[in-house]
Amino acid sequence: MTASPPQATTPPLARPVTTLNGVGPERAKQLERLEIRSIEDLLLHRPHRYEDRRQFLPIAQLTVGAAATTRGAIVAQGLKWYQHHRKSIFEIILEDGTARLHCRWWNLPYMEKYFAVGDEVVVFGKVLSLKPRTVDHPETEIVTGEESFIHLNRITPIYPLTEGLPQRWLRSLLWRTLEEFRERIPEPWPQLGGAAGLAAWPIASRSQAIGSLHFPESIEEPEQARRRLALDEFIELQLQIQLRRRNFEAKAAALPCGGDNHLIKPFLAQLGFRLTEGQTKVLRELRGDLAGAHPMRRLLQGDVGSGKTVVAACCALMTIESGFNAALMAPTEILAEQHFQNLSNWLQPLGVPVELRTGSKKTARADPAQTLVFGARVGQTASLTIGTHALLTPGFDLPNLGLVIIDEQHRFGVAQREELVRKGRYPHLLVMTATPIPRTLGLTVYGELDVSVIDQMPPGRGAVKTFVRTANKLPQVWAFIRGKLGEGRQAYAVYPRIEDAGPSGLKAVKQEFEKLQSALAPFQVGLLHGRLKSAEKEQVMAAFRAKTVQVLLSTSLIEVGVDVPNATVMLIENAEQFGLAQLHQLRGRIGRGAHVSYAILVAAPAGEEALHRLEVLEQTADGFRIAEADLRLRGPGELLGQQQSGAPKFRFGDLAGDLDLIEQARGIAIRLAELGAGKTRSSGTSPDAEHNRG
Ligand code: ADP
Ligand code: MG
Repeated sequence: MTASPPQATTPPLARPVTTLNGVGPERAKQLERLEIRSIEDLLLHRPHRYEDRRQFLPIAQLTVGAAATTRGAIVAQGLKWYQHHRKSIFEIILEDGTARLHCRWWNLPYMEKYFAVGDEVVVFGKVLSLKPRTVDHPETEIVTGEESFIHLNRITPIYPLTEGLPQRWLRSLLWRTLEEFRERIPEPWPQLGGAAGLAAWPIASRSQAIGSLHFPESIEEPEQARRRLALDEFIELQLQIQLRRRNFEAKAAALPCGGDNHLIKPFLAQLGFRLTEGQTKVLRELRGDLAGAHPMRRLLQGDVGSGKTVVAACCALMTIESGFNAALMAPTEILAEQHFQNLSNWLQPLGVPVELRTGSKKTARADPAQTLVFGARVGQTASLTIGTHALLTPGFDLPNLGLVIIDEQHRFGVAQREELVRKGRYPHLLVMTATPIPRTLGLTVYGELDVSVIDQMPPGRGAVKTFVRTANKLPQVWAFIRGKLGEGRQAYAVYPRIEDAGPSGLKAVKQEFEKLQSALAPFQVGLLHGRLKSAEKEQVMAAFRAKTVQVLLSTSLIEVGVDVPNATVMLIENAEQFGLAQLHQLRGRIGRGAHVSYAILVAAPAGEEALHRLEVLEQTADGFRIAEADLRLRGPGELLGQQQSGAPKFRFGDLAGDLDLIEQARGIAIRLAELGAGKTRSSGTSPDAEHNRG
């Protein structure tokens, strides 16, 4: 939002901060750096912490290592230079009648000009030592008689600042602005008659929440205020989701793709295994969608190995039975190839043509007849096309498209997904993911999709045992792996890098390949990474499947989809470099046959914290719990993959912890959408938010 000149029609809170007394061009520039442009931005500038200044801890009671707030008068101060005037230390000594406190600033000589002997100072910091009591680089605020009711004797907000902007000045500005505008902060959802089901909340109105955010009366108030303001954010997002969904359903009629079973029946009969209950339940939901009135928009979640591919195949068959074509897009050539092999094996006997289109096996655009076609077209016109991003090539047509399936959808952006959908006229859409999505993200980032979950693994899988080890245990680890190779099993070894990137100390597959090959002889090692040519990748994968290669040394490229049941060992070095959800994915490559499998996560010895984080994987195989831990520890970025660029940003909402608020917001938004609301709230999203959110 750019600041526009104040007009009579501009709502008060939308006016630029420069319309406030005391905010000149210089201050406006500083505020801009904090992304504060309008009065509303200012009112929503969130304190990063609070200090209880109703009573100060006497200096004599400060303890080493604990952060605390105290106050005292300056009895002495001085600046010392050393190392030929290249380094400096500035020190003030405070006294409060109980003891003295030394506050030091290294190499910030200009601090000298802020303080004078006799000044009363509030200090926040961690005491380093007691003899003398010393704090380095504390936050300080000089107490003046002026406006002391704003800054002292209360729970005081401490704001994020920027260079040149004083804490006290900003706090005074917020105080004055609140005084002036408090009564003019609108309730965002007046359609709900002010109730919004919020009557029972400790803080019921937005105006009150903003007041409590800045100048709380109790220690609990800031969190209550945050929750109220977060709720508003979630309602706004959920309302957009509801309205878009309604809009979509109003204009899009579904292609009838429910099928008549004439292909599915023989397919399931020849499959060689029975679908699990989880798969059957999900298939019922999917069939309902494919035969329904609105185009399907569904996210299929299922942990690695839960058998999503066969479910996707069934959906494709229903569509093909109905006379429409289906397309399946996968993020890597390896995975597209693998799907192509499996699905041609499955569908060819039924006379269903399966085609492959990848970067390296792509038809020249001028000559679409070169598209590789496998399978006999016997009395069957509808087909399944499998491919990578190459499916998106402009000019590549997917006529009569009834169903789009996106595998490992977090590897794609929403834009790419929509691009494929646009090759048809409102085809059904099934997106699949093995990265379990915590419910908070499901309801926000994927709010427009219905969700199905395969909550069960196929029977007969060997257990996966997971071990976290430090690098000094590698000799034993390799001895163990040799043992498994000797029993006829195969192994993956995953390193974070393709090539050595200097002093990072991270293992790189190209550097380690020869060493590993000679160390493991006579066993054969294959090398796989993203910079190999497609043909080379295929060759390595084929050799690994055929067991002529026993160890596959790879980057995290194999994370998605690869399925070789005889591989029972997964060694991951520099495991601290990966997110938990990603490690869980990698671990999903093993445990696919009847043998017991072993995931060995080797971390650099330095990181205690990293080891601790990795232990989550030792403790649980539940992808949802792992994803939740990842969300808490590393934020949503990794779980969302490509999706994150379009992920909503919240000032107050917390995707790791606010599930209850998100669920409430969704209920409220559904009511609001039914009341025909949404247009009334102006604080807008840009038009392309439509396309950025999943
Ligand atoms: P993911 O959900 O990770 O994509 P896949 O679809 O690759 O899993 O399935 C993993 C393996 O399990 C495949 O070899 C597949 O053929 C097999 N599989 C799928 N469903 C079943 C089932 N109901 N019973 C036995 N094996 C199954
Ligand atoms: Mg899969």
